[in-house]
Amino acid sequence: MIILKSREEIDKMRRAGKLTGRVLRAVVDKADVGVTTIELDRIAEKMIRDEGAVPAFKGYQPEFVKCGPFPATLCTSINDEVVHGIPDGRPLADGDILSIDTGVEMDGYFGDAAVSIIIGRPDKGATSLVLATRNALDAGINACIAGNRLGDVSSAIQTVAEAAGFSVVRRFVGHGIGRQMHEDPPVPNYGSPGTGPVLKQGMVLALEPMVNIGTSDVEASADCWRVTTRDGARSAHFEHTVAITESGAEVLTVQEA
Ligand code: MG
Repeated sequence: MIILKSREEIDKMRRAGKLTGRVLRAVVDKADVGVTTIELDRIAEKMIRDEGAVPAFKGYQPEFVKCGPFPATLCTSINDEVVHGIPDGRPLADGDILSIDTGVEMDGYFGDAAVSIIIGRPDKGATSLVLATRNALDAGINACIAGNRLGDVSSAIQTVAEAAGFSVVRRFVGHGIGRQMHEDPPVPNYGSPGTGPVLKQGMVLALEPMVNIGTSDVEASADCWRVTTRDGARSAHFEHTVAITESGAEVLTVQEA
């Protein structure tokens, strides 16, 4: 069942989303060659707790993961890591693609967003991948209009990513969001226009294309969390929490300082 949010609820989600965006912005500004992802994680957790909010990923334990709850505030996924990387003490290196995903729970409502950046000097392949993934997300957001169908959003994302010569991950998808981090409907990054549920005012969706340079196949690592590409090629991930309002799509997780 897709839960429609009232104006008051969307107001609360704006606050959760705003903090999510601010945290990502702060972490992106700090990320550089030699910095570790555990340092970034500490910055993010402090910012969230200082606002009286809760890091939504820390302690998260879905049924499909058998090795214990997620231990951190950020997911930090580097190069061939697609999503759910655990922050650690490895210093970031020149040319790394770093995908950072975070979630915030504030006043009972969630925000969820991700961004990929290139550390140090970018190479052409990384630049092209990151740009295409961001463009795919933007295309999905532009399709978040009441009266459209969910398949229009999925198809818009897929079309942009594949037109750039990349593949979209199918194993993991976006989702509805609200009083829970993951609500209905699932939002695949692939699909056919004109299919799926009709979008309505009050729906809030987390769109999150995961785009690979090589094939779309992914696999879980030994820690059960970190997901990598099966072929070892690099991957990027962008996400926004988006509300469908009377004036169209509203991005709730804008990355402002
Ligand atoms: Mg998400």
